[in-house]
Amino acid sequence: MSKMIGIEIITKNCNGCGKCIPACPFAAIAMSDDVAVIDYDICTICGACVDSCDFDAIIVRHEEKPKAFGTPDKESYRDVWIYGEVTPKGELAPVVYELLNKGRRLADIRDCGLALALVGDGVTHLAQNAISRGADTVYVIDSPVYKGFIEEKIAGALEYLARKFKPEIILTGATIVGRSLIPRLAIRLETGLTADCTALDIDPETGDLLQTRPAFGGNIMATILCPEHRPQMATVRHKVFKEAGVEEGRTGKIVEIDPNDIALEEFSKAIIERVDESEGEELAIIDADIIISGGRGVGGPEGFEILYKLAHRLGGAVGASRAAVDAGWIHYRNQVGQTGKTVAPKLYIACGISGAVQHKVGMQTSDMIVAINKDKSAPIFDVADIGLVGDLFDIVPELLKKLK
Ligand SMILES: Cc1cc2nc3c(=O)[nH]c(=O)nc-3n(C[C@H](O)[C@H](O)[C@H](O)COP(=O)(O)OP(=O)(O)OC[C@H]3O[C@@H](n4cnc5c(N)ncnc54)[C@H](O)[C@@H]3O)c2cc1C
Repeated sequence: MSKMIGIEIITKNCNGCGKCIPACPFAAIAMSDDVAVIDYDICTICGACVDSCDFDAIIVRHEEKPKAFGTPDKESYRDVWIYGEVTPKGELAPVVYELLNKGRRLADIRDCGLALALVGDGVTHLAQNAISRGADTVYVIDSPVYKGFIEEKIAGALEYLARKFKPEIILTGATIVGRSLIPRLAIRLETGLTADCTALDIDPETGDLLQTRPAFGGNIMATILCPEHRPQMATVRHKVFKEAGVEEGRTGKIVEIDPNDIALEEFSKAIIERVDESEGEELAIIDADIIISGGRGVGGPEGFEILYKLAHRLGGAVGASRAAVDAGWIHYRNQVGQTGKTVAPKLYIACGISGAVQHKVGMQTSDMIVAINKDKSAPIFDVADIGLVGDLFDIVPELLKKLK
């Protein structure tokens, strides 16, 4: 795709209706003598104004398309691949099962295979887990060379696999591991990468992956395509998709790659210690079926005590808005939202949280949302199944009493 280099107003088409002014998220358009005028110091060439114009008066100028752009043998790329992230406990990360579920659907639409790429030390036994959850093939590179997690080494092994077997799509969890690993692979393969997708679909004819993710601070959902390059790569947050179910007795192919076939590069990095981010927290929010979250409305660190009581009573975990985290009332690992974690518990109770879009994007797929807020017009009520208007310090103690 050629690069957008500017927005232009076709003055003869502009009738001064002004619809483009509110459409611009950066307030870069004004009216002058009944014709739209763009402030090029502010314009980011996002293109939002183009769609708002009914009179073809706003156009996007593109750079002339470079000649040798894209992957020349695009058609030879096939299959959907999932990166088999392994946890420090030596299990497949839960997000892998979620991606196997989505990957299976994409592969079925595209009428191709679903594969897992598994690289590590002592990981071969995990291959069958992936097959019983929908993978047709598992490519395994099992060697002490891959002990621990050195991104460059794993990226090198994945590059070898991708160049040899040519997957059309590679999906990874947007976990700490995935985020650190996969951009290195995208650069090695000279292809695009869309981070933090919340929805995926595929064009059955072209194989173009429709990668949807929040943009402009979560105010719009953008669907991103990578039509010129293969493989197409995306990361997806944990809990966005449901896990693939287990099909006992399902069979598939395990392709074991000789690690000696992969040229090892020199690295100056070594793992000295692994630290568990959730240490000190009884239950991590991403694993919890019930989350009691607090925002600025809890008033201070002591305000969270009552939320921890309720979480203990219900067997849940405590989450927080960024306002509460930024104030230092609770650890960042508890933050829910765009710059925190995406959660989808069975029950999410939001206490004293207004419901900013950056918070909602991290919790709105919860099965049941209960919102407690003093302000009846708080936007959190827009996504709540049950809304309780009132003071959380009256309502939460009442809930605790009832739960006895
Ligand atoms: C790039 C970017 C990324 C961001 N990422 C995140 C993110 O990941 N997660 C996130 O949460 N935010 C994020 N934010 C911040 C977000 O925009 C909001 O500022 C934040 O979510 C507000 O937190 P809050 O709802 O706790 O606070 P407020 O918006 O101040 O809301 C407090 C609410 O508490 C209610 N209240 C007060 N006292 C009580 C009481 N006693 N009982 C009941 N209700 C009461 C009030 O009526 C109010 O609605 C991000 C912002 C940006 C720009």
